[in-house]
Amino acid sequence: MEAVRSEDTKAKIKASMAETHARRKSQICRVFELKVSIRHNPKAVFEKLSQCFKEAKWVINDMLSLSKDNPDNSMFEYKYTEHRDVVHYDKDKNPVTSSITLPSVLHRATVAQKKTDIINLAKSKKKGIKVGALKFKSEVNCIPIITGFTKILDASHVTIPGFRKLKVNGLHQIEFEEYEIADAKLIRKASGYYVKLTIMLPKEPRNRTRKSVGLDFGIRNTITTSDNKTYDCKVQETEYLKYLSKMLNRHKKEKDSKRRWNCRKQLAREHEHVANIRKDICNKIYHDLVSNYDVIYIQDEQIKNWQQTWFGKQVQHSCMGALKQRIKMLVKADRAFVLSKWLPTTKMCPVCGAVNTIGLDERTYHCDCGYTKPRDWHSACNVLLFGTTKRAECVEHASAEVASSMPPSSSGVAQVAPSKRKPEAHRF
Ligand SMILES: [Zn+2]
Repeated sequence: MEAVRSEDTKAKIKASMAETHARRKSQICRVFELKVSIRHNPKAVFEKLSQCFKEAKWVINDMLSLSKDNPDNSMFEYKYTEHRDVVHYDKDKNPVTSSITLPSVLHRATVAQKKTDIINLAKSKKKGIKVGALKFKSEVNCIPIITGFTKILDASHVTIPGFRKLKVNGLHQIEFEEYEIADAKLIRKASGYYVKLTIMLPKEPRNRTRKSVGLDFGIRNTITTSDNKTYDCKVQETEYLKYLSKMLNRHKKEKDSKRRWNCRKQLAREHEHVANIRKDICNKIYHDLVSNYDVIYIQDEQIKNWQQTWFGKQVQHSCMGALKQRIKMLVKADRAFVLSKWLPTTKMCPVCGAVNTIGLDERTYHCDCGYTKPRDWHSACNVLLFGTTKRAECVEHASAEVASSMPPSSSGVAQVAPSKRKPEAHRF
């Protein structure tokens, strides 16, 4: 049984939470992935890791089945100490009872995570988002670790609950003088096991460049900036991936065969490899843009719709969507601005304002007034032009709103904090 917290303890928890919250304001968050070294850890470690993920699945399914069999029994009453033995099903769907050997910190965290999931689902439901019920899991690939139980021992070892000394690769990334581990997770991927660490670092002031950029997302050159720089974010499907997909298709009929299973495993690994390349390219472009420019302007084009056309494959194999998503996240910090997709950025001439139609195959933009420019560069420049005017309008509008809401005695220079601006104001 969990002890009931006294008022004193509750106050202490509240105070420490407030302290952490205050500290987080001067910190930035970074996530690092450390791979559990396949070569330098004994085989027993991997057997234990595999068992952990299996048992985490049993625990989650046990929680769900108990609450489904007995609707009065809420999942919130599930205590991990009372359920050391769980029922799960074997290959032929016969019930088997096994006792859990999962390290108790991981056991507790898994149960707590599911309870948080339920709370989050309820919150989304309250907001009007359509939600479903929690489903039984056929596979669990992520185990949360309670904060405070993970430590970095030296340049290549970490401690996590149940594994006193785990040799990992990638700790060279965390060579900071001052850092704080905020969260940790144990992850299973096709390529192996990973420990994912969320680390808080002290915030450093950013050097302002006083430059802005407009971006044009195209199919041929992928991304063009208003400074006429092009980024290629295409990622080719590897030959090996094609080969594996073909092989998997060939073994379609042997449903439970070892060969098919191996093939599937290899295919998942290869997919992960390609995804990593894509992620890397996305990171590099994003970093380049963010460190060189103060404000990034983009147009809200429907990349998803492009996927349905015959350019689909090219778009699917690029990191464009992910990059756009990341740039959109900057809107809140006032570092990015999203234009409506209906603005004629490709068709309008910036010199005389005429709207000329331009075919998909025409690579150069011509206007009757004598203006010519390569198509993608032209539209990136237009995005910048439209963006700066619209953004200025927005700032003016927001400052007028704030000035009108302020009492007349305190009216001076109305300054608008970015958080006070409505997010809707960025879209028209
Ligand atoms: Zn013109």
